Amino acid sequence: MPEQRLTLPDRITELETPDPLKPDPDADMFAHRDLRSDAFWQHIPRFANTSESEFLDSKFQNKNSAKTAEQLERLVGELTGDAFMKDVKEGLRQAPMLLRLSPYLLSLIDWENPYDDPIRRQFIPVASKRLPDHPMLQLDSLHEQKDSPTSSLVHRYPDKVLFLALDVCPVYCRFCTRSYAIGGDTESVDKVSYKPKSSNWDEAFAYLLSRREVEDVVVSGGDAYFLPPNRLREIGEILLAIPHIRRIRFATKGPAVMPMRILTDDEWTGTLLDLAEQGRQFDKEVCLHTHFNHPAEITDITRRAMSRLFQGGLKVRNQSVLIRGVNDDADTMNLLTKRLSWVNLQPYYVYQHDMVKGVEDLRTTVGQTLEIERNVRGFTAGFNTPTFVNDVPGGGGKRDVHSFDYYDETTGISVYRSPSVDEDRVHLYFDPIPLLPDEGQARWADRREHSRMIDETLAAAGCEALELAN
Ligand SMILES: *Cc1c(COP(=O)(O)O)cnc(C)c1O
Ligand code: SF4
Repeated sequence: MPEQRLTLPDRITELETPDPLKPDPDADMFAHRDLRSDAFWQHIPRFANTSESEFLDSKFQNKNSAKTAEQLERLVGELTGDAFMKDVKEGLRQAPMLLRLSPYLLSLIDWENPYDDPIRRQFIPVASKRLPDHPMLQLDSLHEQKDSPTSSLVHRYPDKVLFLALDVCPVYCRFCTRSYAIGGDTESVDKVSYKPKSSNWDEAFAYLLSRREVEDVVVSGGDAYFLPPNRLREIGEILLAIPHIRRIRFATKGPAVMPMRILTDDEWTGTLLDLAEQGRQFDKEVCLHTHFNHPAEITDITRRAMSRLFQGGLKVRNQSVLIRGVNDDADTMNLLTKRLSWVNLQPYYVYQHDMVKGVEDLRTTVGQTLEIERNVRGFTAGFNTPTFVNDVPGGGGKRDVHSFDYYDETTGISVYRSPSVDEDRVHLYFDPIPLLPDEGQARWADRREHSRMIDETLAAAGCEALELAN
């Protein structure tokens, strides 16, 4: 913690405490403040002698990231054993995403019990847990390619756009929505390329200049963490120079993967803080949006990194994905929410897991999401309570999970409308089949039932007259 400079007057500290109304809090009430500050990386044999200053160097983190199963095996093979590594190799062969794991994340995984570990589950596929995809699943389920006026932009909502600056990330998430494009081809997916060259950026900037209604730009990808400081500055300053753009968010997984970069890469962090300062002078907001999913990803290194940004006047918000076996219970989600708030990361969204290829084992039902939301709301400040959203298939955009027109828990079909995007269309989300009641599972097992279930649900929602977007 930064040193406390203010002291309380004696008249307060010496006053007799008024009688308590509430029972004394139990230890659970404080679990979110208990951040790891040990040399946790030294459990990995290769890093047994790595000092803190070496570990905090982002060059060390990049150089020692595991990008292939063989590199992973060299780092943790002796902790996990052959059977697990074999499962990983087969999992990676079938997966739509590549592997990339920083020493930071790698060291936070419990390698004695990797199957159940919430960090392992997010980033390292294992073949033995793979479930068949839902029959209604499409690869670009959000239809981002359809809403793209130039190669680096998605313009779906009236006044805000997504600027896809590059196609690499500091980690590859199994559940990535953009698995159709991010991170290079795998055996199962040939990626679309954003061609993140500045000639493409110029087209996107020219488009934004011409669209006077656009006030809000999300710079994502890929990931802003991999923009070198001069490119970060270029994007920031051009966007700030467009008069009608009022809010710029840099979206990055970086703080969850390599928080030390904020502490030790002064050029990058300095550029970001400088852009925020320049923005303030024009009454414009420049902020950071990041992506933590589990409380164990937040350590004392994260706290120190967030402290630097907070003291530099930069707002940081967090978007999580609700993931089975990672954060799909109320206690974990509560701990995550409170820990994020403790380190000045404002919980903004929790996403219903998108319908993405090859990760059916990670999705939850809409019903489970509603139950978790019910348990989280009210535990802490409203402005630190995330909104649970479903980015509905077929390009409807983010909808409050509760706002479905109809939800059938037996077939797992939910119906959403999205008037801000398209008044005439309707969007369907499908719960993972293995989590449905037996009756629902039996109906999905029979192909002839599929369109019947969909028609029934649309009728129950009163949406038969609308066009189906999926
Ligand atoms: C998420 C998203 C945005 C930003 O939406 P917010 O709800 O303001 O966070 C903008 N454009 C696209 C295409 C998006 O997916
Ligand atoms: S960091 Fe974001 S864009 Fe990159 S792989 Fe993960 S979810 Fe996808």
